[in-house]
Amino acid sequence: MPNHRLGAVGCALLLAVAGCAPGGPLLAGSPAATPRATVASASPTPARVAPTDLPVSVPASPGATLDVLPDGRTGTALDQPFTYRGLVLINRNHPVSQAYAPEVGEDYRLVPEAERAFGRMLAAAKADGADIIWRVGYRSYENQAELAATPPTHYGDDAEWYVARPGQSEHQAGLAVDVASKAGYGTRFPETKEFAWLRAHAHEYGFILRYPEGKSALTGLNYEPWHYRYVGAAAAAFGPNATLTVEEYLGGR
Ligand SMILES: [Zn+2]
Repeated sequence: MPNHRLGAVGCALLLAVAGCAPGGPLLAGSPAATPRATVASASPTPARVAPTDLPVSVPASPGATLDVLPDGRTGTALDQPFTYRGLVLINRNHPVSQAYAPEVGEDYRLVPEAERAFGRMLAAAKADGADIIWRVGYRSYENQAELAATPPTHYGDDAEWYVARPGQSEHQAGLAVDVASKAGYGTRFPETKEFAWLRAHAHEYGFILRYPEGKSALTGLNYEPWHYRYVGAAAAAFGPNATLTVEEYLGGR
């Protein structure tokens, strides 16, 4: 069943264990992928930092100050995501607890505001001839734990740079979405017009490319062209084709 094999590869590339069904629409016309090679070529080895030792001071960015809260106030302590300046931040330094499970919509599995914004964005993209495929929204703590325990094998030693540990994924907050195109997915998504459309317009709908290329030392994850994060009005500060990270935006949290 070659289609099922290809389906599994596509799902793995998208970190889309939850909600990823073999034989889904992604299969139609999708080019065969060679995940190991494409992952390696698209992601030069990032500077390694220990998982709990991400930098907390980076050069100032729009509106940022560095003399901010000492970080005793974590998200896990509150059973809520860590929020700073009105923006949720989830990363290795700021996990959410197992108890946190937001209400999400039925269509895209995002929190209501993000759900509506994503729907508007998909419609606008379609009107421009870009057919963005939704793959994954909310993922539970348990789903994330399963994914981290058995990451897609093609990531090899880089798995911890593609798969967030449980509590450390924005998918758990219903604020992140993985997308694809029939013309290319995973590390080949940047070759598609859907990716180009998102890079030009996502910020107009409150979404940003969350893990830009070359920023893994700040974000804790490799370049993920398929992963978009809802930040709402803050997206205006990111603008089109942004490479700014949420960590930088918040002054190195
Ligand atoms: Zn994702």
